[in-house]
Amino acid sequence: MASLFNIVPIRTSLAMRDYAALEVQRTHAVPLLDSLQRPLRDLRISVTDRCNLRCTYCMPRAVFDAHHEFLPRSELLSFEEIERLAKLFIPLGVQKIRLTGGEPLLRRGIERLVERIAQLTTIEGKPVEIALTTNGVALAQKAKSLKDAGLARITVSLDGLSNETFRRMSDSDESVNTVLDGIAAAQRVGLHPVKVNMVVQRGVNEHEIVAMAEHFRHSGIVLRFIEYMDVGSSNAWQLNEVVTAREILQRIASHYPLCVADADYTGEVAARWQYLDGGGEIGVIASVTQTFCHDCTRARLATDGKLYTCLFASNALDLREPLRLGMSDAVLTNIIADKWGRREDRYSELRNTQSNSGKRIEMSYIGG
Ligand code: SF4
Repeated sequence: MASLFNIVPIRTSLAMRDYAALEVQRTHAVPLLDSLQRPLRDLRISVTDRCNLRCTYCMPRAVFDAHHEFLPRSELLSFEEIERLAKLFIPLGVQKIRLTGGEPLLRRGIERLVERIAQLTTIEGKPVEIALTTNGVALAQKAKSLKDAGLARITVSLDGLSNETFRRMSDSDESVNTVLDGIAAAQRVGLHPVKVNMVVQRGVNEHEIVAMAEHFRHSGIVLRFIEYMDVGSSNAWQLNEVVTAREILQRIASHYPLCVADADYTGEVAARWQYLDGGGEIGVIASVTQTFCHDCTRARLATDGKLYTCLFASNALDLREPLRLGMSDAVLTNIIADKWGRREDRYSELRNTQSNSGKRIEMSYIGG
């Protein structure tokens, strides 16, 4: 069965002569800007394409079945390679690194990678902010070791509060309590902030929006609601299955009045809201109805070393080949800088105006 990863139509790697031409020390503006003047600030690194759940909007079992070919270990970037590449992104402006997957806690020794990344400092000399997104199934066991390794913050995906809804969304037999125990452990060991992401899909889990809000009110945990997206090419996305940010907020506000909160920083993905009664904060990530491409500062490094500049991309540039060919930091930095400099991605803004012919990368491979 053909792998889902040979979807990159354009040339991903360069010829040797191209590498030779890149063997020059170039001075890059910092932060590096793309063709729409968006700075490179955030690097998301997928450390595995494997997962222990089969969330229907990301990794539908019909596609990711028992015959699915995951990437062989030899094709994954090693922790040393990930650290080396991360070090090259920082002088170009990266301030925050998020580890994703698949499910990053499935990658053996993930704490060692966290330790390596946690040593890195930004061009301002501040520690690089390191975050991780997990489905929480293994978090209760891993929270302490991740914190001790230097992890600062964590985001846990949880799409329902009842086992029935959670198992329907994750197409698994896992229990909600396993994830809730992981979230509690993350708070207990001092990871902060702890955020919880709920993807809302009409006809599946929108009836639990208020229950989720009630559960996390006054908990210190930031609950974010994500509009169901047409990520990848496998989830048979339909616009009429999207519960809009407006509807989500109306449902909650009808029980617990809300007020808008300022963004924490430029390029923040979630729109922030506060409960008027001091019950805490929620967020809404509205990639379908309130797009935010205009200040998107995120680059994505896939677990096999391909560099993508959009979650909905269908092409990439291979960094693993030059890395394993022994190319210098100058060559690798110039490759990254050229790719970002040419970036013009704004898929969500153009979603309804362009033909979506390109096969989009799978979120389970590139991370959310
Ligand atoms: S669609 Fe692409 S460019 Fe737009 S916000 Fe998402 S990742 Fe950024």
